[in-house]
Amino acid sequence: MTSIYSLTPTKAAEYLEENGFKASQADNIFKDIYALGACSFEEMKNTAKELIKALSKDFFFEEFICEEISDGDSTVKYLFKLSDGNYIETVLMRQEFGNSLCISTQSGCNMGCKFCCSGKLKKLRDLTISEMIMQVLYIERAQNIKISNITVMGIGEPFDNYDNLCGFLDIASYGYGLGIGTKHITVSTCGIVPKIYEFAQRKNPCNLAISLHAPDNDTRNTLMPINKKYPIDELIKAAKHFSEKCNRKVLLEYVMLDGINDSKGQAEKLSELIGDAWLFVNLIPYNPSREDDFRRSNEDRIRAFYDVLKKHNIGVTRRREFGGDLNAACGQLRSDRIKKDGE
Ligand code: SAH
Repeated sequence: MTSIYSLTPTKAAEYLEENGFKASQADNIFKDIYALGACSFEEMKNTAKELIKALSKDFFFEEFICEEISDGDSTVKYLFKLSDGNYIETVLMRQEFGNSLCISTQSGCNMGCKFCCSGKLKKLRDLTISEMIMQVLYIERAQNIKISNITVMGIGEPFDNYDNLCGFLDIASYGYGLGIGTKHITVSTCGIVPKIYEFAQRKNPCNLAISLHAPDNDTRNTLMPINKKYPIDELIKAAKHFSEKCNRKVLLEYVMLDGINDSKGQAEKLSELIGDAWLFVNLIPYNPSREDDFRRSNEDRIRAFYDVLKKHNIGVTRRREFGGDLNAACGQLRSDRIKKDGE
């Protein structure tokens, strides 16, 4: 039995053909699930009875259990318990331009970035397509809202769960699916270079963000183990390839860590690295966790770093802070809960 929320447009068409139905009936299934919001086969109204009967033998309507909600001013954070007891987090940010959702792709993460809470607890498993879809559907239904933007920046490394990520994107961006255009979806990677090239081959990829966090290999090696496999010059080359091939700007995320990656010299180095490529920098104030010794750069240092980039005409923004008040930085809620369970 497969969760019906894992059904991509391509898989639906294949299923229909294999089972003697017309592939064109696929859209009725999607309309029932996503537009009508059916949560059982009985509630399906557009799909032919015969087809519902067939579907009910091979698929089921998965349910999602929300264990904890922390409600901040503009941020709501959800902790979900999966059917096998694993935890994941999803963060809803209400912004002027709409409702943006930050979703997880794995339970835990194996990338081991030193400043990130998610990596403290190793990857337990990849999320299925349906578990990614359900994060969106559950919150849309619970809050009675429409999600307009998705950032794949929650727990996990999306490119370490590549096939399911692509299945999720197929449903998310499909008109009869979640109906969120790829211009409104951003996937963030720590820099798995071959997957960046593979992603660039997709017909309609979404926006790409890369967690850079340092402009030189020595510093990046100490922060992000992945850099030893795919060093900075290879990563920047891949980022440039993606932006040219897909005609999209690429965002370089840069968490400001006091005394580690926030000097003016490092800002000069970063400007050099970018040159005139279509790469933009997003400076992120570090969200401290109890589990490491990093400190957030102070305002003056962030401003000075920003000014150097500006001087070199590099596109740079400062991320507005969300959820710091409610432990909404990547993986913090999950990490607290796993500790509680273990006590
Ligand atoms: N694995 C992916 C996506 C998940 S992390 C990636 O590495 O991009 C999403 C973003 O949050 C990354 O840029 C990550 O470096 C950043 N991040 C992790 N811990 C943080 C913290 N404590 N404060 C601020 N940003 C953090």
